[in-house]
Amino acid sequence: MKNKLLFLGPPGAGKGTQASIICSNLQLMHLSTGELLRAEVVGDTDIGKQVALIMNKGELVSDEIVLSIVRKKLVNANQAGWLLDGFPRNLLQAKALQTLLDELSQPIQAVVSIEIKDEILIERLISRGRTDDTEEVIRNRLKVYREQTSPLIDFYDQLGMLKAVFGEGDIEDVALRIRKVIE
Ligand code: ADP
Repeated sequence: MKNKLLFLGPPGAGKGTQASIICSNLQLMHLSTGELLRAEVVGDTDIGKQVALIMNKGELVSDEIVLSIVRKKLVNANQAGWLLDGFPRNLLQAKALQTLLDELSQPIQAVVSIEIKDEILIERLISRGRTDDTEEVIRNRLKVYREQTSPLIDFYDQLGMLKAVFGEGDIEDVALRIRKVIE
């Protein structure tokens, strides 16, 4: 089973849910930049203070902050492997990640792209009720995704790493589809 994974997909695609399942099954480190950033906000740290407003608008936090968080985690990662969820979110982050992973000799083994219709995304996000899940912020997050993150699908496809997975249906069914592509 592959153990250095990256999950791509729009907000609401179920990345976090599926990432947790795969990580607990395969004992991988779950590296969710959204969760790490939310923890900084809750802890009211220096970083948290800098990112709170940006996150609440659905904009992207600065690449510098996100990259330093990810770097720290990956440098200290153990043999079991990792799953990146919510990162990279733009081409600059993706290229910086390639450089970092080259340095660490830990190449990505599969990029799983979770695909889902827009109507379903919005429904799911509205019912989730996080503080950055108001309709206006959701629309902005989807816009940011389309403009900045979705080009990564082509980026990884061209590198021959991309595995597309249909993300609609039961959580367990989607999890099985993901397992198939990371075998
Ligand atoms: P979702 O997948 O539902 O959009 P996340 O939990 O992944 O939510 O991220 C929540 C917020 O955290 C984003 O809207 C953004 O402000 C910030 N964020 C998370 N990851 C990154 C990243 N790699 N680069 C910049 N900002 C990020």
